[in-house]
Amino acid sequence: MANTTTAPGISGARESRVSNEGTRQRYNLMDLARQIPDAIELGRGDPDLATPPHIIAAAKEAIDRGAQEISDPAGLPELRSAIADKLARENGVRVDAAHGVVVTTGGQEALFLLIQTILKPGDEIIVPDPRYTSYDVAIQMAGGVLVSVPTHECDGFDVDPDEVGRHITPRTRAILLITPGNPTAGTITPPNLRAIAELARRHDLLVISDEIYEKFLYDGAEHLSIGSLPGMAERTITLNGFSKTYAMTGWRVGYAAGPRATMRALRRRKQLCSVCAPVVSQWAALAALRGPQDSVAEFHRIYTRRRAMMLRSLDRLGFTYGEPRGAFYVFANTSSTGMDSIDLSLKLLQEGHVLIFPGTGFGEQWVNYLRFTLLQPDDVLAEAMARVERCLGAAHKRQEEGAPA
Ligand code: PLP
Repeated sequence: MANTTTAPGISGARESRVSNEGTRQRYNLMDLARQIPDAIELGRGDPDLATPPHIIAAAKEAIDRGAQEISDPAGLPELRSAIADKLARENGVRVDAAHGVVVTTGGQEALFLLIQTILKPGDEIIVPDPRYTSYDVAIQMAGGVLVSVPTHECDGFDVDPDEVGRHITPRTRAILLITPGNPTAGTITPPNLRAIAELARRHDLLVISDEIYEKFLYDGAEHLSIGSLPGMAERTITLNGFSKTYAMTGWRVGYAAGPRATMRALRRRKQLCSVCAPVVSQWAALAALRGPQDSVAEFHRIYTRRRAMMLRSLDRLGFTYGEPRGAFYVFANTSSTGMDSIDLSLKLLQEGHVLIFPGTGFGEQWVNYLRFTLLQPDDVLAEAMARVERCLGAAHKRQEEGAPA
C-alpha cells in the first residue's frame, strides 16, 4: 500500500519528514472503497448520527442574525465560559474561562497547535501504542520525538504507569494520554491515571489529555480527567471537541484548556493559522453545551446496542479483543485468520465489500489487528458483519481444505 511518490511542487525532504504510513494506508483503502459502489464503510471515526436539532437551530439563528463577525482567536467568550463551566462541573478541571481556553477548528487543530506550542525540536513526548496516528504527524511536524509506550490486549489496552516511568528521560517534555482510546476503545483506569499523574509531578512534565470520547463508556467504566488530580491543573492541557459527543464532525469545533501561559501561546498560533474557529459553528457548540443533553444519552444507547451486536459477531468469528470499555471502536485480534491485517483489510474490502482499517493504520506492529467501528445504522452494521462472517467463513473453509486463504 505504500505510496512513496512525492506530489509535484512538494519538497521530498519535507514530505518524508511529515509522512505517516498509517495515515497513508487508511487513505488508500478509502480511495479503493470509493470504487466499490455497495461498499459499507467501517473506516473513519465519524459518527453516522444526526446533529441534534436544537444545535442546528442555534446555527440557523446565528446565520439569520447575519453572524458574519469573527471572534477572539480563543473563541466566543460565551463559549469559553460554557467550556470552563463544563470542565469544572463534569470533569473537576478548573480553568480560567478568559485565558485558559482556546476554541479550535476541531480537536485536530487543537492537537497540532498544542504540540507545536509545547515541543521544541528534540523534545520527547510519551504516547501509548497503538494510537491515533495524527499524533505522530503532529509530533514530527514540530520536530519532536515520539516515544512509544506499549499497551496490551490482555488488560484492555490500559496504560501501565511503570512502563511510562521506564520511558522518561531528561529530554521528556510531555505525556500524551487518551481515554477512552482510539483505536483500542480501552480506558486508562483511575489508579493508573493517578500513578501517571504522580510521575508527571515528580519529573515536572506536561500532560496532554485527549478526552474526545469521554461520553461513551460501557460496562461501568469510569472517566477520570487527569487535570482534576492534585497538582495537575498547572501541567495538564485537556483536549476535547464536539465531533464525537454531539455528532458534529463537519462543524469543526474543538478546544484545548489548561494553564494560562500555554493557552496564551496557543491562542497566538490559532490567530496566525486561521484567525478563529468558524463563528456559526461556535454558536452551535454553545447550544450543544448549554442545551439538553438527552441526545448524548440516546447516542450512548445506540452505541451500546451496536457494540453488543458487534461483539457477538466477533465472538462467532473467533476474534479476541481487549475489552472495549469506551468510544465506538473494537480493536480485534484477527490472528486466527492467519493473514496480516493489510491483506485481511484488502480481502474484506475487495471480496466482502466492507472497509475496515488494518491495525497497522495505528502503529506498524499491529499486524494481527483490525479496527472495527460502530458507526453505521444498526441494519447496515449487521449487514457489514454478515458479509465479514461470510467472507471469512469461506476463507477458513478454504484454509481447512488446504488451499491458500
Ligand atoms: N483525537 C482523537 C483521538 C480522534 O480520534 C479524533 C478524530 O477522530 C480527534 C482527536 C479529532 O477530532 P475532531 O478534529 O473532529 O474534533
